[in-house]
Amino acid sequence: MVSTNSNKPTYEEYIEKPLERFDQKNEAFKRARWDDALVPAGKKFYGIHEPQTRPGFTRLDYALHEASWYLERGFARGTLGPNYGLFSWQSVDPKLTSSLPEGRIEVQDPLLMARQVKKVAKLCGADLVGICAVDPRWFYSHIFNLRTREHTPFEPPTECTSAIVMAHAMDYEMTKSSPTLVASSTTGFGYSMMAYGAGLMGHFLRGLGYKAIPCGNDTALSIPLAVDAGLGELGRNGLLITEKYGPRVRLSKVFTDLPLAHDKPVNLGVQAFCETCKKCASTCSAQAILDGDRITDRRSISNNPGMAKWPVDAEKCFSFWSQNGSSCMTCIRACPFNKVPGKIHDMTRWTIKKTTAFNKFFVWVDDLFDYGKKESAAKFWEE
Ligand code: SF4
Ligand code: SF4
Repeated sequence: MVSTNSNKPTYEEYIEKPLERFDQKNEAFKRARWDDALVPAGKKFYGIHEPQTRPGFTRLDYALHEASWYLERGFARGTLGPNYGLFSWQSVDPKLTSSLPEGRIEVQDPLLMARQVKKVAKLCGADLVGICAVDPRWFYSHIFNLRTREHTPFEPPTECTSAIVMAHAMDYEMTKSSPTLVASSTTGFGYSMMAYGAGLMGHFLRGLGYKAIPCGNDTALSIPLAVDAGLGELGRNGLLITEKYGPRVRLSKVFTDLPLAHDKPVNLGVQAFCETCKKCASTCSAQAILDGDRITDRRSISNNPGMAKWPVDAEKCFSFWSQNGSSCMTCIRACPFNKVPGKIHDMTRWTIKKTTAFNKFFVWVDDLFDYGKKESAAKFWEE
């Protein structure tokens, strides 16, 4: 039987050695700028691409892709570094807060405040939101800023006691054509929503007189924060698996000193299901996902050792993206949790949460109905 939800996140039982904070310089996208093992792939991936006639790589697809990333690339740039534009740690213009009174509101009831913050999060475009205590282990030990090329040690902001973690769902239909620019565009829209959501939430918190550090993928690891905030669990594919959207989400977070009640981590049965399933591993063109047992060591410097899990081989993954000409989300497309809500799917998710007894059967049915198979990007434009 799957254990019931407890106050502990489900990764806890797999921690075998003390976890070190991760140096952001070792993340694959940053390595693509300094590590000879990934620089050639990075040059190709970030270089100019000519539109083609094959579906998913036409001029229409490129235009969609550029549009999807516009908010992140133009006004946030969290993929490059922290504390810029919509991810600024202060208001981008003091005039924008000049109409507000000095000082902070008194928070008498952190539970009510958390409810109100979650309401605002939904208005800021979050599809899921949770709040957790700040665990300093999840902050990067060093920041590698691609805007300035600086690599600097990072001290966690001790005054921030809570992280508001928001999940931004990606479009189900668009994931079906992975790995193409159509599927990659839903990632781009997700990143733009991260900038929009965290930026607006940060400004709301400042309006209450509190500190706000809005982030995309910068500053700290999003997945463990999302697990701590009760949004889901870590899957074999190295992604957060949520109950409603599976791995089809992008994550933003805002660190704050506003007094807030915290959510509890959840147990969706993902850990046990991933032991049986392995669909992400078998469909990954780069063979970047382990199809065997969990390991505690890292496969490359892009992994953080110490926890028994299925570390993704970032070199193989990113090299495939480069060769393919667009990012990939086949490990999202193929995942049985990547389904839209519906009576049968919801019942399956509920059963997986309660018992492991039918896991093999559910994977078999998933294969039988060919769920997660690739569809042409042309279909996306035709429908
Ligand atoms: S993104 Fe694509 S290449 Fe990378 S691990 Fe997932 S399926 Fe494999
Ligand atoms: S595809 Fe299967 S093994 Fe991979 S993350 Fe999803 S449930 Fe886990």
